[in-house]
Amino acid sequence: MSALPRDQQTPRQLLRAVRHAANPFVNRSHPNHSVTSIESPRRVAIRRKLLRWYDRNKRDLPWRRRADDPYAQWVAEVMLQQTRVDTVIDRYEQFLRRFPSVGVLATAQYEDVLKQWEGLGYYRRILHLHRAARMVYEDGGTIPTTADALRRLPGVGEYMAGAIASIAFQQREPAVDGNVARVVARLFCIEDDVLSTKGKARIRDVATQLLPAGRPGDFNQAWMDLSTAVCTPRSPDCSRCPLQTECQAADTVAMDRYPVRGRRTRVISVKTVVGVFRARGRLFVRRRPVGGLWSGLWEFPTVNVETTDAADAALKTLSRAYGMALTDDPIEVATVTHKLTHRAIQFLVFMAAVKRTRAATCADSTAWVTKDGFADRPVSTAHRRIMERVLAWAG
Ligand code: SF4
Repeated sequence: MSALPRDQQTPRQLLRAVRHAANPFVNRSHPNHSVTSIESPRRVAIRRKLLRWYDRNKRDLPWRRRADDPYAQWVAEVMLQQTRVDTVIDRYEQFLRRFPSVGVLATAQYEDVLKQWEGLGYYRRILHLHRAARMVYEDGGTIPTTADALRRLPGVGEYMAGAIASIAFQQREPAVDGNVARVVARLFCIEDDVLSTKGKARIRDVATQLLPAGRPGDFNQAWMDLSTAVCTPRSPDCSRCPLQTECQAADTVAMDRYPVRGRRTRVISVKTVVGVFRARGRLFVRRRPVGGLWSGLWEFPTVNVETTDAADAALKTLSRAYGMALTDDPIEVATVTHKLTHRAIQFLVFMAAVKRTRAATCADSTAWVTKDGFADRPVSTAHRRIMERVLAWAG
């Protein structure tokens, strides 16, 4: 991306261009100014400016008050994957009160752990955290101190390992998530697709070069805060940015071009029929298999359909699968839409009275529950919303 022609630039943009041309720290040796190795004075300047900004502007977050507790950092990082900071703040202390150490978490029943996680979504995270806690506990109870060793635990990827190792153990490890990648890509006008292997490697390389030997954890957290408060996805506030004079995208007024993204996430639309079967004031629920979507959570039986017209046949299949004879045709009581990262699910909710059933309930995977019994079980947000709509319909 080249800058606008000079005669179309505002005085401010021209000033930036002049300053950029005069800046001895900007690496122009690579096409599009992509970075290969960062000159030492520029590295030093970025570190100093970013850390100084962080000291003045850092967010007061509960896990930052426990910076040297690796278990507390680990739980925070798992919760923060895919979940907004505001939501995590509310749930984090609660989780740590219930499971204050890796040993308590490792020895807890998975069902209890899942109940504490309810509503946070992305349930594979908690399955992995529980499994990983057990591995650590069985291995003596000490959380690994290096990023390499942390990465061997279930659910701990490159970013999380870097965050825990740098914050809790002061290891010089980068922690690059999508937000940090955005800032780094803008700072150095990185032309590679940030979702590609090459783009990820380049950004990680830059982040590693920039890391200071002292305060690597604070430096990683400074990126995170800057990406949230200043270098936001749609409207970066460059006038407030401590790195403005170092930033090549700001110089070329091309912030919106970066980060470069080649492929977009495709969202698939899915229709799912939900059978709410009731008998003698109770509702039939089943437990999802452990692993996969909504791992181990309870729900009303569901089946995916191609079109709405296939709902009747799908309900018959469902009721037969559980050996139920229905008193009448099921009634459609609600439509609930729920969005996930890759899926938009339209739940078509049907209610049906059961006159008899041959289904043997198994405490582990199926049950007849009251309204309160449903509320006590770990259930996904989608199915909790479905239950609300069912209760509203029933009056
Ligand atoms: Fe982001 Fe603007 Fe700062 Fe560059 S100057 S890092 S584009 S906020």
